[in-house]
This record gives sequence, structure tokens and C-alpha cells, in this order.
Amino acid sequence: MAPSDSLVRTFIKPLAWLPVIIINAIIVWSYFAYMVVFGFGTVKDTTERVIYLTLYNPIFIIFMVSYWRTIMSNPGRVPSQFYLSAPDKERYDSAENPQAVVNELGKNLPIQTRSISGGARFCEICQLIKPDRCHHCSVCNSCVLKMDHHCPWVNNCVGFANYKFFFLFLFHGIIYTCFVSLTTLKYFLKFWQAAVPKADSSLHVLFLFFIGAMFFVSLWSLFGYHIYLALHNRSTLESFRPPVFSNGPDKDGFNLGKMNNIRQVFGTKKSLWLLPIYTTPGNGYEFSSRQQSLNAV
Ligand SMILES: [Zn+2]
Ligand SMILES: [Zn+2]
Repeated sequence: MAPSDSLVRTFIKPLAWLPVIIINAIIVWSYFAYMVVFGFGTVKDTTERVIYLTLYNPIFIIFMVSYWRTIMSNPGRVPSQFYLSAPDKERYDSAENPQAVVNELGKNLPIQTRSISGGARFCEICQLIKPDRCHHCSVCNSCVLKMDHHCPWVNNCVGFANYKFFFLFLFHGIIYTCFVSLTTLKYFLKFWQAAVPKADSSLHVLFLFFIGAMFFVSLWSLFGYHIYLALHNRSTLESFRPPVFSNGPDKDGFNLGKMNNIRQVFGTKKSLWLLPIYTTPGNGYEFSSRQQSLNAV
């Protein structure tokens, strides 16, 4: 093991958890501030308190589950059939034209896309033929099925197997911050306008509104973009570099119409769409393409 490897493992990798720790610290503080300080302290009306706290807890739980499932899920491991076998690797290493070996092996795999030069896509680091929509993540140091992007806020890649959770993390994050901001607004204005020095409890409420509103706005900018991507069946990477098919690059190559695109992420059961339960259909390496549908007509 090179010294730089152990350096990365010991010092740099744990540092990657810092954004996750910061976000979780803010969330845990927000729970305390909302439940204890605001719910049982600031709000004096019993009916108002019951309504707020009854709604707050399920919203909080569903948001946290979406967030932690994005963090903990494997984003999409490439199946063994795409890796070079030992004899194939030997052929690849000794070949004068290694790409020809890759192209030949690729013919036996369910792949529709290719590199810009026209051959099967190959990852030198993982030694595998890349399935459609798969990309190598330099942070995770592995290939990820339908890779969307590497997200520092979850210290994980967002790919085929956790894209739904990531999408719901943004969605329920918006619901959570919207709920917190709206319910604390009245008290925020009261405390903000009060001429008397702020008590500790009112500072919590002021921050609850302020941080809630700030995250609400920033989550919307990312969520709006992902609504667009999901409706067009495009990953973040594909929006920058369109997949290449036999007839050339096509940014809408996997676009099957808005409803079908949504089903490819959330499944067919609408009642489960907004719940952080795994419902994404398919295997993460075979995707229907526009070209296939045209050929089938
Ligand atoms: Zn790779
Ligand atoms: Zn990654």
C-alpha cells in the first residue's frame, strides 16, 4: 500500500463525513428547538400545540428516513458479468488493440451505448465493460449503475439504487423546512419586532424560522432541477454529456415520455411514490431507449 493511500484512508476519508455530521447536527437541533422550546414553550394554545406537534413528527421521520436511506444505500453495484474474467483480462493485457477485445466482449452484453469513438465503454480502474448509464466515480473509486452524481451532503454516490431516496430527501426536506418556517413565522415576527432583549427560547425560534427558510430556498433550487431531470429520464451526468447510441449522442435517448420516466424511478404503485421504500423497477443496467421503441414500431 502506498503511503498516500493510508494517508487518504486515515485522514481524508473521515473528513468526507463532515458535511453529513453538520447537516445531522442542524436537524437534531431543529428537533429539540421545535419540540421542546417552540412546541412546549413558545406555543401557549393547546389546540395549536397539538396540531403542530402531531403533524411535525411524521414529517420529521419521513424526511430523516429518506435522508439516511440515501446515505446508507449502495447506489448501484455493477454485476459480475460486466467484469473481465481472468482469461479475458490476460487477452486484454496482451492484445495489440485492447479496445477490440473490449468491443468483442461487449457484443455478448446488454449494452446500447458506446464511447464517443464508437467502441464499448470500458473502465480501466474497475476493469469492467460499463453498462449503459454507468459511470466511474473518482470519489468512491468504483463504477456506479446509472450514476447521477457524487453528493457530499450524503457522503455517497447517487445512482440507480438510491436515486428515489435522494429525490425524496429533497422533497421531504422541502416539506419539513416549509412546515417549520410557516408554523414559526408568527412567533418569529413577534420576537423580531420585540424591543426587549431576546431570551434564549426566542433565539431558538428566530433561528428555526431563519434556517428553515434558508434551507427551503436552497433545496428548491436543487429539487427543481431534479424534477426536470426525472421527467426527461436524464441523470445529472447525462445532462452534461449525452449518452452515445449507434446513431450518435442523444440527450433524450432514454426519454420514454413523462409518465414512463417517472415510473422508471418510482415504480408503478403511486401510493408508494412518496414513501422512502425501495420501488425502483429494473436491474440498473438494462434500460428501454427511445431507439428501441422506434425500432419496435
Ligand atoms: Zn470504474
Ligand atoms: Zn461516488
